[in-house]
Amino acid sequence: MTKTETILSLRNISRTFGNKAAVKDVTLDIREGELFTIVGPSGSGKSTLIRMLAGLETPSAGDILLRGTRINDMPANRRPTCMVFQSLALFNHMTVGENIEFALTVRGADRKARRERARELMALVRLPQEFYGKSVLRCSGGERQRVALARALASDPDILFFDEPLSAIDYRLRKILEMEMKDLNRETGKTFVYITHSLEEAMVMSDRIAVMRDGEIVQLGDPLSIYNAPSTRFVAEFMGQVNLLPVAVDGNGNRVIEGIGAPVAQAFRAGPYSSIMLRPERLRLLDKGRRADVEFDATCFNFYLLGSRTHVHLRRDERTFIVELSPDMAVPEPGAVVRVGFDWADAVSVQGEAP
Ligand code: ADP
Repeated sequence: MTKTETILSLRNISRTFGNKAAVKDVTLDIREGELFTIVGPSGSGKSTLIRMLAGLETPSAGDILLRGTRINDMPANRRPTCMVFQSLALFNHMTVGENIEFALTVRGADRKARRERARELMALVRLPQEFYGKSVLRCSGGERQRVALARALASDPDILFFDEPLSAIDYRLRKILEMEMKDLNRETGKTFVYITHSLEEAMVMSDRIAVMRDGEIVQLGDPLSIYNAPSTRFVAEFMGQVNLLPVAVDGNGNRVIEGIGAPVAQAFRAGPYSSIMLRPERLRLLDKGRRADVEFDATCFNFYLLGSRTHVHLRRDERTFIVELSPDMAVPEPGAVVRVGFDWADAVSVQGEAP
Protein backbone atom coordinates (compact mmCIF):
# COMPACT_ATOMS: atom_id res chain seq x y z
CA MET A 1 0.00 0.00 0.00
CA THR A 2 1.34 3.44 -0.85
CA LYS A 3 0.86 5.73 2.07
CA THR A 4 0.56 9.15 0.48
CA GLU A 5 -2.82 10.62 1.52
CA THR A 6 -2.74 12.90 4.53
CA ILE A 7 -5.08 11.89 7.34
CA LEU A 8 -3.96 14.26 10.08
CA SER A 9 -2.37 17.68 9.66
CA LEU A 10 -0.83 19.82 12.33
CA ARG A 11 -0.50 23.46 11.43
CA ASN A 12 1.78 25.59 13.64
CA ILE A 13 0.73 23.77 16.79
CA SER A 14 1.99 25.15 20.10
CA ARG A 15 1.15 24.42 23.70
CA THR A 16 2.37 26.43 26.66
CA PHE A 17 1.99 25.71 30.37
CA GLY A 18 2.42 29.00 32.25
CA ASN A 19 5.49 30.49 30.60
CA LYS A 20 6.87 27.10 29.55
CA ALA A 21 6.43 26.08 25.91
CA ALA A 22 6.03 22.29 25.85
CA VAL A 23 5.37 22.18 22.06
CA LYS A 24 6.59 24.97 19.76
CA ASP A 25 5.13 25.66 16.35
CA VAL A 26 4.96 22.09 15.04
CA THR A 27 3.76 21.62 11.45
CA LEU A 28 3.41 18.06 10.25
CA ASP A 29 1.34 15.79 7.98
CA ILE A 30 0.62 12.22 9.06
CA ARG A 31 -0.33 9.89 6.22
CA GLU A 32 -3.21 7.44 5.99
CA GLY A 33 -2.16 3.96 7.14
CA GLU A 34 1.38 4.79 8.18
CA LEU A 35 3.12 3.91 11.40
CA PHE A 36 4.41 7.30 12.44
CA THR A 37 6.67 7.53 15.47
CA ILE A 38 7.51 10.59 17.53
CA VAL A 39 10.75 10.02 19.36
CA GLY A 40 12.67 12.21 21.77
CA PRO A 41 14.13 12.34 25.25
CA SER A 42 11.98 12.77 28.34
CA GLY A 43 10.47 16.27 28.52
CA SER A 44 10.82 16.96 24.78
CA GLY A 45 7.04 17.39 24.35
CA LYS A 46 5.99 14.02 22.89
CA SER A 47 3.12 13.35 25.30
CA THR A 48 1.80 16.89 25.05
CA LEU A 49 1.81 16.62 21.25
CA ILE A 50 0.06 13.25 21.08
CA ARG A 51 -2.47 14.32 23.73
CA MET A 52 -3.43 17.29 21.55
CA LEU A 53 -3.85 14.98 18.56
CA ALA A 54 -6.08 12.68 20.60
CA GLY A 55 -8.16 15.60 21.93
CA LEU A 56 -7.00 15.20 25.54
CA GLU A 57 -5.21 18.55 25.52
CA THR A 58 -6.05 21.83 23.76
CA PRO A 59 -3.45 23.62 21.63
CA SER A 60 -2.51 27.15 22.71
CA ALA A 61 -2.11 28.04 19.03
CA GLY A 62 -2.40 26.37 15.63
CA ASP A 63 -4.82 23.98 13.96
CA ILE A 64 -5.32 20.22 13.84
CA LEU A 65 -7.04 18.98 10.69
CA LEU A 66 -8.51 15.51 10.21
CA ARG A 67 -8.81 14.82 6.47
CA GLY A 68 -8.93 18.57 5.93
CA THR A 69 -11.52 19.40 8.63
CA ARG A 70 -10.44 21.42 11.64
CA ILE A 71 -10.95 19.36 14.81
CA ASN A 72 -9.33 21.56 17.48
CA ASP A 73 -12.56 21.76 19.46
CA MET A 74 -13.83 18.23 18.87
CA PRO A 75 -13.81 16.29 22.17
CA ALA A 76 -11.74 13.12 22.35
CA ASN A 77 -14.75 10.80 22.45
CA ARG A 78 -16.14 12.28 19.20
CA ARG A 79 -12.90 11.81 17.28
CA PRO A 80 -12.40 8.61 15.25
CA THR A 81 -9.25 7.95 17.25
CA CYS A 82 -8.24 5.90 20.24
CA MET A 83 -5.39 6.21 22.72
CA VAL A 84 -3.52 3.15 24.02
CA PHE A 85 -1.69 4.00 27.24
CA GLN A 86 1.34 2.49 28.88
CA SER A 87 -0.68 2.18 32.09
CA LEU A 88 -3.02 -0.14 30.17
CA ALA A 89 -6.15 1.21 31.83
CA LEU A 90 -7.99 -2.10 31.60
CA PHE A 91 -11.09 -2.91 33.64
CA ASN A 92 -9.60 -5.20 36.25
CA HIS A 93 -12.90 -6.63 37.42
CA MET A 94 -13.67 -7.86 33.90
CA THR A 95 -12.51 -10.76 31.78
CA VAL A 96 -10.40 -10.46 28.65
CA GLY A 97 -13.51 -10.85 26.51
CA GLU A 98 -15.51 -8.24 28.44
CA ASN A 99 -12.68 -5.75 28.17
CA ILE A 100 -12.40 -6.20 24.42
CA GLU A 101 -16.16 -6.05 23.95
CA PHE A 102 -16.58 -2.90 26.06
CA ALA A 103 -16.86 -0.45 23.13
CA LEU A 104 -19.23 -2.81 21.31
CA THR A 105 -21.43 -3.17 24.41
CA VAL A 106 -21.62 0.62 24.72
CA ARG A 107 -22.75 0.77 21.10
CA GLY A 108 -25.45 -1.79 21.75
CA ALA A 109 -24.11 -4.64 19.62
CA ASP A 110 -25.79 -7.97 20.42
CA ARG A 111 -23.99 -10.66 22.39
CA LYS A 112 -23.27 -12.98 19.49
CA ALA A 113 -21.83 -10.21 17.27
CA ARG A 114 -19.72 -8.93 20.15
CA ARG A 115 -18.31 -12.32 20.88
CA GLU A 116 -17.52 -12.99 17.25
CA ARG A 117 -15.70 -9.67 16.91
CA ALA A 118 -13.81 -10.22 20.18
CA ARG A 119 -12.60 -13.58 18.91
CA GLU A 120 -11.46 -12.06 15.63
CA LEU A 121 -9.57 -9.33 17.47
CA MET A 122 -7.99 -11.85 19.84
CA ALA A 123 -6.64 -13.75 16.84
CA LEU A 124 -5.36 -10.50 15.33
CA VAL A 125 -3.40 -9.56 18.46
CA ARG A 126 -2.29 -13.18 18.94
CA LEU A 127 -4.16 -13.91 22.17
CA PRO A 128 -5.15 -17.58 22.59
CA GLN A 129 -8.92 -18.06 22.26
CA GLU A 130 -9.12 -19.77 25.67
CA PHE A 131 -8.23 -16.41 27.27
CA TYR A 132 -11.72 -15.15 26.45
CA GLY A 133 -13.10 -15.91 29.93
CA LYS A 134 -9.88 -15.23 31.83
CA SER A 135 -9.71 -12.38 34.33
CA VAL A 136 -7.33 -9.65 33.14
CA LEU A 137 -5.81 -9.69 36.62
CA ARG A 138 -4.43 -13.13 35.83
CA CYS A 139 -2.78 -11.97 32.57
CA SER A 140 0.91 -11.14 32.24
CA GLY A 141 2.15 -7.68 31.22
CA GLY A 142 2.48 -8.69 27.58
CA GLU A 143 -0.98 -10.29 27.54
CA ARG A 144 -2.54 -7.20 29.08
CA GLN A 145 -0.89 -5.14 26.36
CA ARG A 146 -2.52 -7.34 23.74
CA VAL A 147 -5.92 -7.02 25.47
CA ALA A 148 -5.51 -3.21 25.49
CA LEU A 149 -4.73 -3.29 21.77
CA ALA A 150 -7.72 -5.48 20.96
CA ARG A 151 -9.93 -3.25 23.09
CA ALA A 152 -8.71 -0.15 21.22
CA LEU A 153 -9.27 -1.83 17.85
CA ALA A 154 -12.81 -2.91 18.82
CA SER A 155 -14.10 0.65 18.48
CA ASP A 156 -12.76 0.60 14.90
CA PRO A 157 -10.88 3.93 15.09
CA ASP A 158 -9.17 5.42 12.04
CA ILE A 159 -6.12 6.40 14.07
CA LEU A 160 -4.59 4.69 17.10
CA PHE A 161 -2.31 6.70 19.36
CA PHE A 162 0.24 4.88 21.48
CA ASP A 163 1.91 6.58 24.43
CA GLU A 164 4.99 4.47 25.23
CA PRO A 165 2.94 1.28 25.45
CA LEU A 166 5.91 -1.06 25.77
CA SER A 167 8.14 0.80 28.20
CA ALA A 168 7.16 -1.33 31.20
CA ILE A 169 7.67 -4.63 29.39
CA ASP A 170 10.87 -6.64 29.65
CA TYR A 171 13.41 -6.48 26.83
CA ARG A 172 12.84 -9.82 25.11
CA LEU A 173 9.06 -9.54 24.98
CA ARG A 174 9.31 -5.88 23.97
CA LYS A 175 11.36 -6.87 20.91
CA ILE A 176 8.62 -9.31 19.88
CA LEU A 177 5.82 -6.81 20.49
CA GLU A 178 7.62 -4.13 18.46
CA MET A 179 7.54 -6.41 15.42
CA GLU A 180 3.95 -7.39 16.11
CA MET A 181 3.02 -3.72 16.23
CA LYS A 182 4.38 -3.32 12.71
CA ASP A 183 2.51 -6.46 11.59
CA LEU A 184 -0.71 -5.19 13.15
CA ASN A 185 -0.35 -1.85 11.39
CA ARG A 186 -0.03 -3.69 8.09
CA GLU A 187 -2.87 -6.12 8.78
CA THR A 188 -5.38 -3.48 9.91
CA GLY A 189 -4.35 -0.71 7.48
CA LYS A 190 -5.06 1.80 10.26
CA THR A 191 -2.90 4.81 11.02
CA PHE A 192 -0.69 4.36 14.08
CA VAL A 193 0.93 7.31 15.82
CA TYR A 194 3.41 6.06 18.36
CA ILE A 195 5.61 7.82 20.88
CA THR A 196 8.72 6.44 22.47
CA HIS A 197 11.99 7.69 23.94
CA SER A 198 13.76 4.76 22.26
CA LEU A 199 15.01 5.39 18.76
CA GLU A 200 15.87 1.71 18.54
CA GLU A 201 12.19 0.90 19.06
CA ALA A 202 11.20 3.55 16.50
CA MET A 203 13.63 2.16 13.92
CA VAL A 204 12.16 -1.35 14.06
CA MET A 205 8.57 -0.49 13.37
CA SER A 206 8.16 2.94 11.79
CA ASP A 207 7.39 4.12 8.28
CA ARG A 208 8.52 7.58 9.33
CA ILE A 209 10.04 9.08 12.45
CA ALA A 210 9.92 12.61 13.83
CA VAL A 211 12.67 13.41 16.32
CA MET A 212 11.65 15.96 18.98
CA ARG A 213 13.82 18.16 21.12
CA ASP A 214 12.66 20.95 23.43
CA GLY A 215 9.18 21.03 21.91
CA GLU A 216 10.32 21.14 18.29
CA ILE A 217 10.69 18.58 15.54
CA VAL A 218 14.38 18.60 14.66
CA GLN A 219 14.31 15.89 12.00
CA LEU A 220 11.63 14.03 10.09
CA GLY A 221 12.23 11.15 7.74
CA ASP A 222 12.19 7.42 7.16
CA PRO A 223 14.21 5.33 9.64
CA LEU A 224 17.14 4.69 7.33
CA SER A 225 17.62 8.31 6.38
CA ILE A 226 17.62 9.26 10.06
CA TYR A 227 20.07 6.48 10.85
CA ASN A 228 22.38 7.21 7.94
CA ALA A 229 22.06 10.97 7.74
CA PRO A 230 21.20 12.54 11.08
CA SER A 231 20.92 16.28 10.48
CA THR A 232 22.42 17.34 13.79
CA ARG A 233 24.75 16.08 16.45
CA PHE A 234 21.82 15.77 18.85
CA VAL A 235 20.02 13.32 16.53
CA ALA A 236 23.23 11.38 15.90
CA GLU A 237 23.97 11.01 19.60
CA PHE A 238 20.38 10.25 20.47
CA MET A 239 20.54 7.25 18.19
CA GLY A 240 23.10 5.61 20.37
CA GLN A 241 26.48 4.38 19.49
CA VAL A 242 28.23 6.62 17.02
CA ASN A 243 31.69 8.10 16.66
CA LEU A 244 31.67 11.86 16.30
CA LEU A 245 34.94 13.45 15.23
CA PRO A 246 34.83 17.25 15.43
CA VAL A 247 36.15 19.29 12.52
CA ALA A 248 38.58 22.10 13.36
CA VAL A 249 40.35 24.72 11.31
CA ASP A 250 44.13 24.74 11.71
CA GLY A 251 46.50 27.76 11.71
CA ASN A 252 46.67 27.71 7.91
CA GLY A 253 42.91 27.80 7.51
CA ASN A 254 42.67 24.13 6.53
CA ARG A 255 39.95 21.83 7.83
CA VAL A 256 41.34 19.03 9.96
CA ILE A 257 39.96 16.32 12.22
CA GLU A 258 40.38 17.61 15.76
CA GLY A 259 42.73 15.53 17.89
CA ILE A 260 43.87 13.46 14.91
CA GLY A 261 45.12 16.26 12.68
CA ALA A 262 44.28 14.46 9.43
CA PRO A 263 42.99 16.81 6.70
CA VAL A 264 39.28 16.66 5.87
CA ALA A 265 38.75 15.49 2.28
CA GLN A 266 38.05 18.36 -0.13
CA ALA A 267 34.74 16.90 -1.27
CA PHE A 268 33.49 16.31 2.29
CA ARG A 269 30.94 18.91 3.26
CA ALA A 270 31.70 19.97 6.80
CA GLY A 271 31.87 23.42 8.33
CA PRO A 272 33.88 24.52 11.38
CA TYR A 273 31.42 23.41 14.06
CA SER A 274 30.35 20.22 12.38
CA SER A 275 31.43 16.68 13.09
CA ILE A 276 32.28 13.65 11.06
CA MET A 277 30.00 10.81 12.07
CA LEU A 278 31.03 7.20 11.75
CA ARG A 279 28.94 4.25 12.81
CA PRO A 280 30.92 1.66 14.83
CA GLU A 281 30.69 -0.69 11.84
CA ARG A 282 32.38 1.92 9.61
CA LEU A 283 35.45 2.41 11.76
CA ARG A 284 37.87 -0.43 11.08
CA LEU A 285 40.86 -2.03 12.75
CA LEU A 286 43.62 -1.99 10.17
CA ASP A 287 45.36 -5.26 10.88
CA LYS A 288 47.09 -7.40 8.24
CA GLY A 289 48.22 -4.32 6.28
CA ARG A 290 44.71 -3.05 5.56
CA ARG A 291 44.57 0.61 4.54
CA ALA A 292 42.02 3.40 4.92
CA ASP A 293 41.66 7.04 3.79
CA VAL A 294 42.24 8.26 7.35
CA GLU A 295 44.41 6.23 9.74
CA PHE A 296 45.44 6.77 13.35
CA ASP A 297 46.64 4.90 16.42
CA ALA A 298 44.54 4.31 19.53
CA THR A 299 44.75 2.14 22.64
CA CYS A 300 42.30 -0.66 23.28
CA PHE A 301 40.41 0.06 26.50
CA ASN A 302 37.93 -2.80 26.64
CA PHE A 303 35.68 -5.03 24.54
CA TYR A 304 32.01 -5.99 24.82
CA LEU A 305 30.33 -9.05 23.34
CA LEU A 306 26.95 -8.22 21.78
CA GLY A 307 25.82 -11.60 20.51
CA SER A 308 26.88 -11.84 16.89
CA ARG A 309 29.06 -8.70 17.09
CA THR A 310 31.82 -7.38 19.32
CA HIS A 311 32.31 -3.72 20.19
CA VAL A 312 35.81 -2.58 21.06
CA HIS A 313 36.31 0.75 22.83
CA LEU A 314 39.55 2.48 21.88
CA ARG A 315 40.97 5.60 23.47
CA ARG A 316 43.15 8.33 22.11
CA ASP A 317 43.81 11.32 24.34
CA GLU A 318 40.48 11.96 26.10
CA ARG A 319 38.37 10.56 23.28
CA THR A 320 36.72 7.12 23.03
CA PHE A 321 36.15 5.43 19.67
CA ILE A 322 33.78 2.51 19.20
CA VAL A 323 34.70 -0.11 16.61
CA GLU A 324 32.46 -2.99 15.66
CA LEU A 325 34.37 -6.14 14.80
CA SER A 326 33.15 -8.72 12.36
CA PRO A 327 33.07 -12.26 13.78
CA ASP A 328 36.24 -13.32 11.92
CA MET A 329 38.42 -10.63 13.50
CA ALA A 330 40.66 -11.15 16.52
CA VAL A 331 39.73 -8.97 19.51
CA PRO A 332 42.72 -6.86 20.64
CA GLU A 333 43.88 -7.14 24.26
CA PRO A 334 43.03 -4.22 26.54
CA GLY A 335 46.11 -1.96 26.60
CA ALA A 336 47.23 -2.88 23.08
CA VAL A 337 47.92 -0.03 20.64
CA VAL A 338 46.10 -0.64 17.37
CA ARG A 339 45.86 1.06 13.99
CA VAL A 340 42.34 2.17 13.15
CA GLY A 341 40.83 4.03 10.21
CA PHE A 342 37.93 4.87 7.96
CA ASP A 343 37.15 5.81 4.37
CA TRP A 344 35.52 9.12 3.50
CA ALA A 345 32.80 7.26 1.59
CA ASP A 346 31.63 5.79 4.94
CA ALA A 347 31.59 9.11 6.81
CA VAL A 348 28.61 11.43 7.24
CA SER A 349 28.72 15.13 8.03
CA VAL A 350 26.54 16.25 10.92
CA GLN A 351 25.90 19.82 11.84
CA GLY A 352 27.52 20.51 15.17
CA GLU A 353 26.36 22.77 17.93
CA ALA A 354 27.99 26.18 18.03
CA PRO A 355 30.30 26.47 21.06
P1 ADP B 1 7.68 13.95 26.99
O1 ADP B 1 6.42 13.22 26.71
O2 ADP B 1 8.57 14.08 25.79
O3 ADP B 1 8.44 13.41 28.18
P2 ADP B 1 5.95 16.09 27.90
O4 ADP B 1 5.08 16.45 26.76
O5 ADP B 1 5.38 15.22 28.97
O6 ADP B 1 7.31 15.48 27.35
O7 ADP B 1 6.45 17.42 28.60
C1 ADP B 1 7.06 18.50 27.88
C2 ADP B 1 7.29 19.64 28.87
O8 ADP B 1 6.05 20.21 29.25
C3 ADP B 1 7.99 19.23 30.13
O9 ADP B 1 8.87 20.25 30.51
C4 ADP B 1 6.85 19.10 31.13
O10 ADP B 1 7.29 19.36 32.42
C5 ADP B 1 5.89 20.16 30.65
N1 ADP B 1 4.48 19.80 30.95
C6 ADP B 1 3.80 18.78 30.42
N2 ADP B 1 2.53 18.73 30.89
C7 ADP B 1 2.42 19.78 31.76
C8 ADP B 1 1.36 20.28 32.58
N3 ADP B 1 0.15 19.70 32.61
N4 ADP B 1 1.63 21.35 33.35
C9 ADP B 1 2.83 21.95 33.33
N5 ADP B 1 3.87 21.54 32.57
C10 ADP B 1 3.68 20.46 31.81
